[in-house]
Amino acid sequence: MGTDAPRIVPDVVSGEPRVLATARRARPHRPAAGGCPFCPGNEEATPPEVSRVARSADGRWTARCIPNLYPLLPTHELVVMTPRHVESARDLSDDEWLATAQLLVERYREHEDHPDHVVSAFINDGERAGASIPHAHLQLVAGPVTELASRWMLHAVDPGSCGVCHSLAANDLRIAERSGAVLCAHPTPIGNGGLLAGPAAHDSSLTRADPEVLAAALGMACRAAPTDVDFNVLLRSRPDLGHWHLEVVPRRGYQAGAELSLGIGVTLTDPAEVAAGARERLAHA
Ligand SMILES: [Zn+2]
Ligand SMILES: [Zn+2]
Repeated sequence: MGTDAPRIVPDVVSGEPRVLATARRARPHRPAAGGCPFCPGNEEATPPEVSRVARSADGRWTARCIPNLYPLLPTHELVVMTPRHVESARDLSDDEWLATAQLLVERYREHEDHPDHVVSAFINDGERAGASIPHAHLQLVAGPVTELASRWMLHAVDPGSCGVCHSLAANDLRIAERSGAVLCAHPTPIGNGGLLAGPAAHDSSLTRADPEVLAAALGMACRAAPTDVDFNVLLRSRPDLGHWHLEVVPRRGYQAGAELSLGIGVTLTDPAEVAAGARERLAHA
């Protein structure tokens, strides 16, 4: 990749990490179904597969993990979450979520095994959320903690003071519970309508997660996400630090000047109303 390899550089004033990834400009934008690199039959359009899960009787893949041809960070992998050309993670089956969760736990074990690495996984659902290929996929990036230090990832938390435990236990915000995972309205979301999901028990890293619990958390969260906007799902985990969880961030255009300047999230919606709307959507999902 030569000089086109992504570089992490500190902001010249604040020192916060910035990434220069100019090679990503060459990535395909919204290919049609026939030219979709994530559809079965087009596997040669992607770099060699890292791993796959086959859950159908005919042995075909249900989910597969591949390196990103246009990396954002030196480690950047994609999990294609379904062989079907569906755009939204809202439409995945339970089997596809379980295959995706199995791959995700496997990849976290691989990457989080380095004590100086941070791993971040996320879903960009829809064009406004950053998806350039309209075939449901999840992304995983990893890099050195010294260069990517994030306030999300560096706090050790015990169960007594854990914000995830506290939030998932709040009855007025609870949306659903399934297979050991709980979904609630986020009490302090990044933006309007945020959701929070994770294991009911104070678990720590995704490397020790039960894929069934992770699949239930992901499936509930995406099916309960607002249907009128694109959204991101952010997974957060660090070995032995806190309680792995995911946040659904609907993209309602909240990043105005105040948010960018101060790094704050502003929400105008009452989390109890968000919970009521999400319960309604899940009931009809
Ligand atoms: Zn496709
Ligand atoms: Zn906890």
